[in-house]
Amino acid sequence: MCGIVAYIGKRHALPILIEGLKRLEYRGYDSAGVAILDGKMEIAKSIGRVRKLEELVEKTGGFKGTIGIAHTRWATHGGVTDRNAHPHCDDKKLGHNIAIIHNGIIENYSSLKKYLEEKGHTFESETDTEVLAHLIGELYKGDLEKAVQAALREVTGAYAIAAICKSEPDVLVVARKGSPLMVGVGKDEYIVASDSSAIVAHTTQAFTLADYTVAKLTRDSFRTSTVDDVPVDAQVKELEFDLAEIELGDFQHFMLKEIYEQPGALRTCLKGRVDTRSGQIVLGGVLQHAKMLATARSVTFVGQGTALHACMIASYLMEELGKVNADWDYASEFRYRNPIVEEGTVVVAISQSGETADTLAALQEAKQRGAFCLEL
Ligand code: GLU
Repeated sequence: MCGIVAYIGKRHALPILIEGLKRLEYRGYDSAGVAILDGKMEIAKSIGRVRKLEELVEKTGGFKGTIGIAHTRWATHGGVTDRNAHPHCDDKKLGHNIAIIHNGIIENYSSLKKYLEEKGHTFESETDTEVLAHLIGELYKGDLEKAVQAALREVTGAYAIAAICKSEPDVLVVARKGSPLMVGVGKDEYIVASDSSAIVAHTTQAFTLADYTVAKLTRDSFRTSTVDDVPVDAQVKELEFDLAEIELGDFQHFMLKEIYEQPGALRTCLKGRVDTRSGQIVLGGVLQHAKMLATARSVTFVGQGTALHACMIASYLMEELGKVNADWDYASEFRYRNPIVEEGTVVVAISQSGETADTLAALQEAKQRGAFCLEL
């Protein structure tokens, strides 16, 4: 997982963006970068910690603009290098007019890249994201929102993106499909981020951008639409969030914090599911599917990382206690191989964040093949 922060308003964007990136550090990343518009497009990016990026920007004397985008990357296409770090720009020959940040994967990037190369584009990185930046540049005819919509109509895959353009310093365009994105609504400002932790310090009013939606933000207004420019409603709501949950507190590392939080997390998780008086376990979400589960022929658990370990344990328990054929698989393998899904196959997807791209894609694959799916 990685992070996106974007800002448009009246304050200096840089400190807000850097602080936002630091709030997202717990998500893990390999590099970080920032682009700010201040007459020109100011860009800094570097592998390593956000602090390193901060030092890099400080050396330039700091960026002063009031609109900008920032990113922490978890590489999927291209190695962990400064060059592959985001933001990425449109073609150099067009004057690097547009910069974007992106979480997710552009699945059809290689055919788009070929098309753009035939049109004379040259690429500076190995990323799928740069291809999207070039495509937006190619389709740009003086309106960033329209160019983003047009480019996204050509794209398959998952994305949360934010884009800025040198010729439109009062416009920030963001969009999402599959990857999370939230828009914080302040007074004459908007803070966009991949999770609320980067927003709550500034405002508790926010809306989650719906899937397949593009938002055009100016300093005092916003409009949301589909990629085909059909208006979409966005409901601004009060964010309920406890900052302490994502702050390190007295711990030195997030890993240590999570280890110490395990007893509390388990208690919260079991609360409402264990009836201590009757000695019964009540799994509300699963109960309604009890009949289906009782007749299941096999159960496959899919996940990534730590969730995959949960999958392994769950599959052993399912066999031992449920007496059903059970196995587990990396979601990333499951989605790309040709999994056998028969009648009575149950697929259980486990994700800590609920937004692991490979797990969501595996779930979609399983559903398309007719499996009965449970998302945990
Ligand atoms: N696919 C993009 C890349 O490799 C984005 C990865 C991310 O979500 O951070 O640069």
